[in-house]
Amino acid sequence: MKIQAPMIGFINGLLVTIKTTLRRPVTAEYPSVEKRLALSDRYMGFPALTWDYDVKEPYCTGCMVCVRECPTQCMSAQMKDNPKHEENLSRRRKIIDSFEINLGRCILCGICVDVCNFDAIEMSHEYELSKYQRNANRVNLNQLLDMGSSFQNKIGWKPKQPQKNSGVPQPPKASEESS
Ligand code: SF4
Ligand code: SF4
Repeated sequence: MKIQAPMIGFINGLLVTIKTTLRRPVTAEYPSVEKRLALSDRYMGFPALTWDYDVKEPYCTGCMVCVRECPTQCMSAQMKDNPKHEENLSRRRKIIDSFEINLGRCILCGICVDVCNFDAIEMSHEYELSKYQRNANRVNLNQLLDMGSSFQNKIGWKPKQPQKNSGVPQPPKASEESS
């Protein structure tokens, strides 16, 4: 018996349907946490401040370069003298005192990360910040450091310039010791 062309088309269609029904889903179900897709390490979420675990303080010195370069002017920062430097517990003479980013205005461009010379800011994996209030996405220093340290722990973050930017005090040079 010769199979008719419409019947072949029907069988082909049925096979495609069965194959699609049995394959693993390629989409994720939002907002179910356990069904989300894993983010790659290089994913760029909102900016966050990094924490120097060796001396237990932020990497950020409050130099304001990122604040000046931010195209949407959504950042503000203030520095202070670092009390740990006085006690020879940190190399950082200045340290961040207050920092705020209005994430509602951040366009995730990454310029703040590119211009920072202190390994102090990174694009974290944070992306989920919908709020009911217009200004509720203003995040302060502690929130930025929380976002940063969970990002650091998640990807095993290391500073790009550890020698330059570590806060661990350097031993005095031989010439300084003898003088
Ligand atoms: S994040 Fe970097 S560029 Fe911005 S204030 Fe801190 S040290 Fe300066
Ligand atoms: S990612 Fe861009 S817009 Fe967002 S805070 Fe940094 S410089 Fe500003």
